[in-house]
Amino acid sequence: MTDHLTPAATAENAPPAPTIPASEKSPLWVQCLDCGHAWVALYAPMELGKAASLLRNLHCQNCGASASRISFGQPAQSDASA
Ligand SMILES: [Zn+2]
Repeated sequence: MTDHLTPAATAENAPPAPTIPASEKSPLWVQCLDCGHAWVALYAPMELGKAASLLRNLHCQNCGASASRISFGQPAQSDASA
């Protein structure tokens, strides 16, 4: 008997459904090029459509600059205590 078929996983053998704990979400930092204000725009992973919409409507909460004046990336911490 030649049975190549992989048996379907049983409920007991099936791995747990992948869940993403909040602690494993990574913040996406953005920074305003006009006033230097930096903040977390969203937490990844996020639905692509939702993220795209959010980023398109992004504006600086400090000076109101539009998305075209906002860059991605966490600002360097210059206030490190020595
Ligand atoms: Zn700004």
